[in-house]
Amino acid sequence: MDRRVVYQSPTPYDEARIHAAAVYCSDGRVGDQLDEFLHHGLGLPRYDRLACPGGPSSLSGRFLAFWEGQGVEQQLRFLHRVHALRQVILIAHEGCAYYQVRLGFPAAEVEREQRTDLERAAKAVIGIDGALEVRAFFALRLESRIAFEAVAV
Ligand SMILES: [Zn+2]
Repeated sequence: MDRRVVYQSPTPYDEARIHAAAVYCSDGRVGDQLDEFLHHGLGLPRYDRLACPGGPSSLSGRFLAFWEGQGVEQQLRFLHRVHALRQVILIAHEGCAYYQVRLGFPAAEVEREQRTDLERAAKAVIGIDGALEVRAFFALRLESRIAFEAVAV
């Protein structure tokens, strides 16, 4: 086959699975920081990614997020079965446009709703398998940096 390789990653491929998945918003402005937190802050290299607008909101059972939720829950069930997940990380982020634009919350109410959704999403994950370890975090902006706060769920 005539392959036209245009780029080769310097990162070596590692076959071993980490048995962890993270559900977070697809907002690319926080993508690198999320990766860094999961890799270095939580020690989870090669975690499985479930990124969609609003992130954990998709597992909250909200009516407006119903279709997104169906897809994400099915994907999580698939990863759980095929990759033998043992833990799921849920991360919401400050200033998430999904909450204001799609769900219609005023800016002042967004964080409270996100925290409620982290709790609901944690319950949904436990509903898939009660043995799964669930941890939740809130990514907040500290001036020009992103910091991660643990959220009890
Ligand atoms: Zn977002």
